[in-house]
Amino acid sequence: MPPIDLHCHTTASDGRLAPAGLVAHAAERGIEVIAVTDHDTVDGIDEALGAADVAGMRVICGIELSSVRDGRNIHVLGWFLDPRSPVLAEALVGLRAERRRRGEAIVARLNELGFELSIEQVRAEAGSAVIGRPHVARALVAAGYVASVSEAFAPDLLADGGRADVAKRVFDPVEAVRLVGAAGGVAAIAHHAVAHHAGPARGIDRALIEELRDAGMAAIEVDHPNHDPAARDAMRALAIELDLVATGGSDFHGDTGQTLGLCTTEPEALEALQERRTTAGG
Ligand code: AMP
Ligand code: MN
Ligand code: MN
Ligand code: MN
Repeated sequence: MPPIDLHCHTTASDGRLAPAGLVAHAAERGIEVIAVTDHDTVDGIDEALGAADVAGMRVICGIELSSVRDGRNIHVLGWFLDPRSPVLAEALVGLRAERRRRGEAIVARLNELGFELSIEQVRAEAGSAVIGRPHVARALVAAGYVASVSEAFAPDLLADGGRADVAKRVFDPVEAVRLVGAAGGVAAIAHHAVAHHAGPARGIDRALIEELRDAGMAAIEVDHPNHDPAARDAMRALAIELDLVATGGSDFHGDTGQTLGLCTTEPEALEALQERRTTAGG
């Protein structure tokens, strides 16, 4: 069984399993190390670390920060962050508020489109999590408007650029990389070759990757469930050329059909990440 999965979500953002449930699931599957990388929050970390102690496995404090460059969503992964970093905490409070505002704007947009949905119905799905489109999608399923979350993410509805997709004010990717560093962590660009789950394949933006590396980015997520073999090969070659660590993770959300540990990180790559953190003095 593959031992290291550096990309996992919990109910602190849009995952289905609580942090302790994620750790228990990983332990059951024989996975030795996971990183909890929730969207724009580290709220799941303490529970995950506590559960990891009990299960005898290792949890890395991570995050997946939303950022936008030229209208395109760029996700930045961070690992080995100090969850108590004041500069991180301040930034995350802002992102949470922005996600709340944007959640309300998405609901207003849906109302205009004829869907009778309230922000309370979305909150019922999100609980205490930072609000994301998946919570809106689940509320649409619960209200009977669509049969599944992926149906809600149809190109003309919740998907990037869809009629009910509202942009959130977030960082530029360079700022996201710097924030990870300021919180003592190392950063990577996530699933660079795909927009998202069912999103269209997109080319590798080498100039952006070089720019982020120059801003301190340590790694690139090469192995991701939605990267095809050709994209992985190209990204692995680029990682070697640009001296970036190649990582892998399943982007696990606990949704039906998703497999924790489907994509993994080599132990040597994890060591290299830790090494770069130490070198950066974080
Ligand atoms: P948000 O962070 O609110 O912009 O929502 C983005 C999240 O929605 C991603 O992290 C995925 O978990 C989820 N997502 C994006 N596209 C899809 C899709 N086509 N089907 C299901 N979930 C998706
Ligand atoms: Mn997600
Ligand atoms: Mn992502
Ligand atoms: Mn993710």
